[in-house]
Amino acid sequence: MLDNGDLRQSFAGDVYNSAVYLKRCFKQFDTALFTAVGNDKLSQRMIARLDEENLNTEFVFKHPDKTLGLYMIETDESGERSFSYWRNDSAARKLVNFLDDTLVNALNPEDVMFFSGISLAVIDEDTRERFWEIIDTLKDRGLKIIFDSNYRPRLWSCVQEAKYQYEQALAHADMILPSVEDLQPLFGVGNPEELVAFCRLYDIEEIVVKDGPNSVLSSYQGQQQYHQIIPVEKVIDTTSAGDAFNGVYVGARLSGKSVDEAVKQAACAAGVVIQFAGAIVPYDHFMKAIKA
Ligand code: AMP
Repeated sequence: MLDNGDLRQSFAGDVYNSAVYLKRCFKQFDTALFTAVGNDKLSQRMIARLDEENLNTEFVFKHPDKTLGLYMIETDESGERSFSYWRNDSAARKLVNFLDDTLVNALNPEDVMFFSGISLAVIDEDTRERFWEIIDTLKDRGLKIIFDSNYRPRLWSCVQEAKYQYEQALAHADMILPSVEDLQPLFGVGNPEELVAFCRLYDIEEIVVKDGPNSVLSSYQGQQQYHQIIPVEKVIDTTSAGDAFNGVYVGARLSGKSVDEAVKQAACAAGVVIQFAGAIVPYDHFMKAIKA
């Protein structure tokens, strides 16, 4: 990340960020990350980082000759971000090649599988069909499929390609955590209500639309509800706000909380995260702040 002209290196990525915040708030859940890294020092440091966050690294595969993808985030005065990527040849692109039946069988029906629009953009194009086959198998086994709509146009070769993959995601998902900003360029939805109406065309049990400091709109089993967000006065960096929200929301729902309770807990965590620079708030500070 670029911070007042200085480069700071850390490990992040939307699904990783969500996993970190889920695990921090809900220690009882075994939270595993599916990805591929290299055999180099940087990859080893990333695995050590996952260990520090108590994430399960059993499904972090090691590619023999590739390594981590790089990206850089620049943040403006209002906390808004812009991205640069060097990830065309990353090990993570090859993830699907590592996902065999042993893995599918290792998961339980009560598990959930969470992926994002960035996961879809990053995996090799010629492995996407296999990815959907795996998701179908997991769904048949009873796992819930959760999709975060994170849309980064520059990671896709064209809008049509992204649109097709997002349609697949919506057709498979049991829960989605989208924003208008992500789905507007793909499906023309102009506000949260239009987004929910559009997603109702699919068989999605739970839809939770995030909208920065504005109310969250949820639709669970067809019941629509608004949840007020208390705006944070001094936003430092919005990186990972949605990711933290997602991780904590999913953890709260898995531990039996209602949609409203889960939104409150998720919004509290996201509110803490945007008052810090970077995706991952230091552990002690985060834990203290969410209890305050
Ligand atoms: P976003 O991805 O920007 O829609 O934000 C995700 C979540 O982060 C929102 O649903 C809020 O819970 C929280 N959030 C984002 N911006 C703010 C803000 N300015 N004040 C308080 N909470 C925010």
